[in-house]
Amino acid sequence: MQERVYLTHFKRGMDICPQCEAALVWRKVGDRKYCPCDRNPVLCMWDPCSPLHVVYKGEIITGVKILTAQNAGDFIGQRTFYALQPHVFTCRKFRYLSLKYAKQNQL
Ligand SMILES: [Zn+2]
Repeated sequence: MQERVYLTHFKRGMDICPQCEAALVWRKVGDRKYCPCDRNPVLCMWDPCSPLHVVYKGEIITGVKILTAQNAGDFIGQRTFYALQPHVFTCRKFRYLSLKYAKQNQL
């Protein structure tokens, strides 16, 4: 049993994040890897400056902006599409752990 989710895995894992218990969907990316994603799709637009990653048409892509309550105005008149967000970027537990790790390393 795996202990956490990564960006990609060689096998599909559980339907629930082992850390925060969020529901996951597994999407095949590339030839032989799977990416655990959040179940709810997000609305995206292309933005070359954005470091965000999403799974779109079987690939992990970057350079997309994800719709939030704050940036909704940027989406007016833009070409948009739905994509899935890799759970590794949204996992509350993992984010907490990585913040803690970053803090420890600063000391
Ligand atoms: Zn999680």
